[in-house]
Amino acid sequence: MQQWQIGKVKVTRVVEMQVAGGTRFLLPQATPEAVADVGWLKPHFVDASGKLIMSIHALIIETPTRKIIVDTCIGNDKPRSVPGWNQLQLPFLEDLEKAGYPRESIDTVLCTHLHVDHVGWNTMLVDGEWVPTFPNARYLIGQTEYEYWDQEDGGDSFGDIMSDSVRPVYAAGLVDLVDVNQRLCDEVYLEPTPGHTPGHISVHITSEGQEALITGDSFHHPCQMARTDWASSADYDQQASTATRNNLLEKYADSDVLIIGTHFATPTAGHIRQNQQDYWFDVGQAIDP
Ligand SMILES: [Zn+2]
Repeated sequence: MQQWQIGKVKVTRVVEMQVAGGTRFLLPQATPEAVADVGWLKPHFVDASGKLIMSIHALIIETPTRKIIVDTCIGNDKPRSVPGWNQLQLPFLEDLEKAGYPRESIDTVLCTHLHVDHVGWNTMLVDGEWVPTFPNARYLIGQTEYEYWDQEDGGDSFGDIMSDSVRPVYAAGLVDLVDVNQRLCDEVYLEPTPGHTPGHISVHITSEGQEALITGDSFHHPCQMARTDWASSADYDQQASTATRNNLLEKYADSDVLIIGTHFATPTAGHIRQNQQDYWFDVGQAIDP
């Protein structure tokens, strides 16, 4: 289990799955040959054969007053078109509880965007029905994001995301549609990072002079720091997503802001640095636990 302390705020990672390869459809330019030129990606983010390693995890932000889960992964029992994501039976809720956060303890669910791997555990299957997994939480969804997917049939191409993972929490009266700049509490506010989806947001944490940013899918993989033109095939607007990535790199390079990647493999967090040619991701002396 990985954990970071940002002033009074604790961020805990709970992994649903971490895999190497199988993600080439996401970043088609990131071939083994192309990533070999970016030496610092090994060993954490690229394996020995040049495959990208990626993680699907939730991040729990615990402030003095709130317990916020950011992105709820793929979820169990959901019919999905990708075989490795279909009808999962993974111990995610048990792992969440082991990390100190039984599902009843969560007071806020925050989706950076409404894609298949960010909304799954919004609901769980009970007696053949999709019910809210976090009954005591408000579910925060960006208004722009919600309105976009609301008029699309079903959701993204991986399955009927809206029907099984979004509409049930909406129907239960648990959703608050929020602005892309919304402040959640003293230590946490949203930062608009459009492009991957129309209303995509990242999550900014500040406490006692320390800062962190949870990327969402503005970056899928640290290789996009070195190769800023590698947009994802899953980006709704590749020009906008590239502009967003460039803005984030300029804004946070060589700063003390801890960047916590939503799909970055272990060790997941680090600092953006800039050398003469390009940007890179500094994870210090981190060692895989
Ligand atoms: Zn994603």
